Amino acid sequence: MALGIFLGRLLKRIKKWKTARTNEQVWCNKTDEDEEMRDELLFRQPKSSNLGDCPICCLPLSLDPQKSSLMACCSKRICDGCLRANTIRQLGLVIPQTPSCTFCREPVPKTEEEANAMLMKRIEKNDPEAMRYMGGKRRDEGDYKSASEYYTKAAELGDAEAHFNLSIMHLLGKGVEKDEKKEAYHLEVAAIGGHVLARHILGCHEANNGRMERAVEHFIIAASMGDKESMKALWKLHAKGLIKKETLTATLRAHQAAVDATKSAQREQAEESLKRNLKSQEKTKLKDAWIIEAES
Ligand SMILES: [Zn+2]
Ligand SMILES: [Zn+2]
Repeated sequence: MALGIFLGRLLKRIKKWKTARTNEQVWCNKTDEDEEMRDELLFRQPKSSNLGDCPICCLPLSLDPQKSSLMACCSKRICDGCLRANTIRQLGLVIPQTPSCTFCREPVPKTEEEANAMLMKRIEKNDPEAMRYMGGKRRDEGDYKSASEYYTKAAELGDAEAHFNLSIMHLLGKGVEKDEKKEAYHLEVAAIGGHVLARHILGCHEANNGRMERAVEHFIIAASMGDKESMKALWKLHAKGLIKKETLTATLRAHQAAVDATKSAQREQAEESLKRNLKSQEKTKLKDAWIIEAES
């Protein structure tokens, strides 16, 4: 084949797969020839988890969403360490200050209605985090149709968590039709976007289907981002002789580095403080008044 024709075809395929990440029609109707290109995208190690870094301390956010909170005012996810430091700073001021967001300085909402109004403003500005959060609220209220609409809009804007939620909805047939292809599409796009649970589930699917090499690849990627369950799965596969010791050791090192990268003295103090506060109902309410609760 002439080089020009070959390159032309290759560029066409690359363009198609760039589109496929945001187009379920293209993804779900892939041909065998496309599988290779899809896998190249799917098995690439993401630079970070979909949660990214805390915008205040710039450290990667913990994979445990309970250790950070989404601010209704600016849709920024702030780690507990920075939230606590801001609370202490504002409480310690000689001239009392209205409690405000540690990122955008907007006064914090006092009621759920105020928080909802802030979220709607973010949604009007096409903010995928706010759309996804609202999708979660609608889902919890049992309004799956509306939830799927918010999730779809957020997913179209590249939100990995929204893709993950759409995958579950297609699995269960809630708010959308039951559809295995769409379930797989959203799960894969979520994993590509750094969603470790989506990645772990893909690994489990592959293992259940006896495709162990692919399962191992998924688990290695998730474990290297700090996912404990994928690391456990790799230990089990190693015990069965399905992974070499060197591969396991290298992954364990990457896993520990990813976990350590999310740690800081400030975050540890916040965790300790939260543990103490859990014993005191009064103090925990302080945190709840400041922020939208961390998503479950
Ligand atoms: Zn932080
Ligand atoms: Zn804010």
